[in-house]
Amino acid sequence: MLQIRGRPLRLLLSEERIKSRVKELSREIEEHFGEPFLVVGLLKGAFIFTADLVRSLSIPVQIDFMWVSSYGSSQESSGHVKVIKDLDTDLEDRRLLLVDDILDTGYTLREVYKLLKLKGATEIRTCVLLDKRERRKVSFDADYVGFEVPNLFLVGYGLDWDEEGRNLRGIYAVE
Ligand code: 5GP
Ligand code: MG
Repeated sequence: MLQIRGRPLRLLLSEERIKSRVKELSREIEEHFGEPFLVVGLLKGAFIFTADLVRSLSIPVQIDFMWVSSYGSSQESSGHVKVIKDLDTDLEDRRLLLVDDILDTGYTLREVYKLLKLKGATEIRTCVLLDKRERRKVSFDADYVGFEVPNLFLVGYGLDWDEEGRNLRGIYAVE
């Protein structure tokens, strides 16, 4: 059985389910944009999701990454984000898709959304693979959601537990 630090991992979403949902999301997204746009992925958690999502698009897109961390404890966001690595791209008059791994309290995406808006983006759509809706602290919903998930601690497909487990191909709950 798969384990991290002696804790068993229970499969929640298989590689196949993720793959087929990513395809559906990319169809919806390209139907909406209809022309080249900018994809902004949030490091590190969304690196695999972003890579799979953009490879499933048939429109050529530009891709950039931003690395933010939220102040406070390691497992709960606090409403302030610190930019560790900013974008290289000029956002003036750009239409973009902001991609994250999981929407939890909502603080991270809400803050990043505001930052990107201030940089001049004309349209920002948001896409998350996972949504823990019951955990929301601020009203923020993503335009595209892969799966609604229960309030469990999840690893795999980019998500880590203290930097372990990001490479797992499915998504697992830590028991
Ligand atoms: P929010 O600001 O919405 O509370 O936090 C979103 C961030 O919290 C995600 O990008 C992710 O880094 C982290 N997060 C929330 N839930 C989980 C989880 O179950 N597992 C992992 N590995 N990270 C999580
Ligand atoms: Mg994250």
